[in-house]
Amino acid sequence: MNAHRERAYNFTAGPAYFPDEVIRTIQNDLYDFRGTGLGVMEISHRAPLFEELLDETTRRLRALLAIPASHEIIWATGGGTGQFSMVPMNLSLPGHEGNYFVAGVWAEKAYQEAKRFSPAHVAATSAESRFASIPKSFSLSAKPAFFHYTSNNTIVGTQQREEPSVGEIPLVCDASSDILSRPIDVAKYGVLYACAQKNLGPAGITAVIVRRDLLDRAPADLPILMTYKVLVENKSLYNTIPTFPIYGVNEVLKWVERNGGTAEMERRSIERSSLVYEFIDRHSFYRGHAEKSDRSRMNLSFFCPTPQLDALFIKEAEAANLKGIAGHKLLGGMRASMYNAFPLEGAKALVEFMKGFSERHAQ
Ligand code: PMP
Repeated sequence: MNAHRERAYNFTAGPAYFPDEVIRTIQNDLYDFRGTGLGVMEISHRAPLFEELLDETTRRLRALLAIPASHEIIWATGGGTGQFSMVPMNLSLPGHEGNYFVAGVWAEKAYQEAKRFSPAHVAATSAESRFASIPKSFSLSAKPAFFHYTSNNTIVGTQQREEPSVGEIPLVCDASSDILSRPIDVAKYGVLYACAQKNLGPAGITAVIVRRDLLDRAPADLPILMTYKVLVENKSLYNTIPTFPIYGVNEVLKWVERNGGTAEMERRSIERSSLVYEFIDRHSFYRGHAEKSDRSRMNLSFFCPTPQLDALFIKEAEAANLKGIAGHKLLGGMRASMYNAFPLEGAKALVEFMKGFSERHAQ
């Protein structure tokens, strides 16, 4: 129990946990932003103040991820799913195929979406093991236009921390659930995107990092808001951008800066996730879903001995202020999502709870 804590430990997969201090700042800024007498939601997206805020947010993301000058940053609407459409719309080439590395449910969805309107090829899949592991090899199509993979598979709880090696083929990564959780080499990517609501801030905006030379691939008749080049040329302000999410992302990025950047985020994620995985491995009552070598440091999926005990675990955890720990409906069991902002104390509280639960319910 952590009855002393006013706010719950929130294990949901996203929209996810915010640092307490960021929530407090947001409360203030909703009323009066930077002494202007305007709440942050009341500022025009065309006001210099907002343009400054947007620039600041973009600069922060660039610095935190060490994004090279060869790459542009777009703030897009439509979530991660929007990019499932925009990637093939913008990167397809006549007579070429989009290649998809399908190691999770969202990767499968990305492939299914691409296939609706462009040639798409499954380079590898681990669907047969319910995505418990990351495929160890892949086979490319004859003429790959790009290679899409998901660095962290949110639903099943696996993570691919090493980029697939695909030579000159533009590498596209859905980093929705592990962006900023470790240093990465952005220069290796053609496109890297992440919806905000896990590691970046409020739901409603998606960061898309695009290598500049790829911007010219898009056909001229693409819907205007779907066109990376248009968004770049207009600094993501072609139309009214979701202003509050941008503000929220900036606050979260400031928090990441204050807390040591991606290297420290990585250290914390290792510490938090190891605590829980080590406990699972020492207690046969619990069974992890992901193959050990492919385990995610962000989303930890596990089971009790029976589905009935899973249901009871979720109910009792909720009552103990450990919220949102039910697994995704496609997998069942439990999923503890612990993104950047998630405190170590929350992981400790979970382990403590797991210990008590297994003692009470062991056969
Ligand atoms: N990709 C991944 C890896 C995700 O985890 C999610 C959502 N949880 C999505 C894409 C879809 O994002 P959205 O709901 O913003 O469309």
